Amino acid sequence: MPLRDMYRPPAAESLVDGVGLFDGQGWIHKGMDINAIRKRFLFPHSERIVTNNAATTQVPVDLLKMHVSLARDYENVHRGQSKASQKMTTMLDDAYNTIAAFLNAPEGKKSIVLYRNTTEAINSVMYSLLTEFRDGDNMVTTMMEHNSNYVPWYAMCKEILPKFGVNVQCRIVNFSRETGELDLEHMARLIDHRTKLVCCSGASNFLGVKNPLKIIREMTRNSGYFQPGGRRGSFLLVDAAQLMPSSPVDLKALDLDFLAFSFHKMLAPFGIGVLYAKASILSSLPPFLYGGDMIAQGQVSPEKVGYNALPWKYSAGTPNILGAIISAQALRLLLDLTLSPKKHVYFATEKPIEYWVVNAAMTRISLYLRILTQHALERLSGVPGIQIYGPKDAAKRTSLVAFNIKGINPMSLAEEMAEYGVEARAGCHCATLAHHYLGLDPPASCRLSFYIYNTIQEVDYAVRVVRRLAARPSRCVVNASLQQDSAVTGYD
Ligand code: PMP
Repeated sequence: MPLRDMYRPPAAESLVDGVGLFDGQGWIHKGMDINAIRKRFLFPHSERIVTNNAATTQVPVDLLKMHVSLARDYENVHRGQSKASQKMTTMLDDAYNTIAAFLNAPEGKKSIVLYRNTTEAINSVMYSLLTEFRDGDNMVTTMMEHNSNYVPWYAMCKEILPKFGVNVQCRIVNFSRETGELDLEHMARLIDHRTKLVCCSGASNFLGVKNPLKIIREMTRNSGYFQPGGRRGSFLLVDAAQLMPSSPVDLKALDLDFLAFSFHKMLAPFGIGVLYAKASILSSLPPFLYGGDMIAQGQVSPEKVGYNALPWKYSAGTPNILGAIISAQALRLLLDLTLSPKKHVYFATEKPIEYWVVNAAMTRISLYLRILTQHALERLSGVPGIQIYGPKDAAKRTSLVAFNIKGINPMSLAEEMAEYGVEARAGCHCATLAHHYLGLDPPASCRLSFYIYNTIQEVDYAVRVVRRLAARPSRCVVNASLQQDSAVTGYD
């Protein structure tokens, strides 16, 4: 059946009551105007059902235009005295301030370090902490982590530190196989007075579940560990790659030590990830990368090198200047798209960002995404043979749903969905530990994930396609060669 014939709005009664309004033309949610939002993107002009947003979101036209116009006469920062250089320097500074404001970072831009992505940000923490771990220490991570928040710690504990005669255990917290929720009792048993660091995701990119960060913070605070500087308690690192795009993240309230996320999952192009860390920690740790710009002016001699003030101590070499500016502007645009999609209030302005505005915008986003996710969960649960992973209640999860259908290979299911225009992602989503833990063979699942421009109609359409393929599993039946294909991971 052609795509258009299957692409019809759902019946009004299927919409979630009380939280939104379907006006017959489009979906409006408490002032969040999805039709207006979609007009700011190019993809609606093609027949793409963009439902792989947990991997990467689409870039709005305004941001693309800004990128081109900045690239026309740009300059390097901090070096030149030219007007162009000064302009870029100011814009880069503003970008750091915007990011800090968006996170409600208690110490402002001093705590913001820019890397290429979440993975690099987490690796940088591993390298900075490498010489801080003491023999007999341990660190705790979870079974639901993306490989980015497991493999660096595995490598540190099993491969790097043993070479220096330092033994550090890597302990892994289980999650419930039924609900996908973290086993907090297990976590409490694993954290002890030798736990230097606890790492967990804010939201899982496979189970969708959001983790109770305040409870975990309490556990780390009371672990009894003594950090070398005299601070009591274990460090807490949160991989917020899936949390940041869909929820308010208030660092004043959460009091995290480290947080990492990538901008390409929240409207910006590829290439910039953030590491937030408490300024006191960044001041005391050795930097991850050494070289130009991260040194204090003139303080390089054969005897001694002095490092630059924060955050520049962590900015070695020429940064991705345009990437940083555009990524911060993506946050400003996200505020506008959510709060006033027909006009720019924050985007391309110097208007200071107050956290209550961020909170209002991100709360709206999270409520809207919850509607889409609950709808997907309810509709998908009626598909014969389906197994959905993670909590059944959308309030407990971020905006993604991963599933398998009995007897059908998820990789070929996603390929067939693509033929209907639905962009699902299949594989282990780099959540390899979790797929093995659930005993999935092949270790793969199919995932739909939503962002602010998706509509209920698109969710319905995607589910109809799944239902259709489930009833007619022609090419997607599991067989040996397809099982091998499923081992392919790719980026997620
Ligand atoms: N952590 C989680 C929870 C993720 O979902 C992802 C990306 N899917 C990453 C880490 C890695 O992000 P990046 O590829 O941008 O480093």
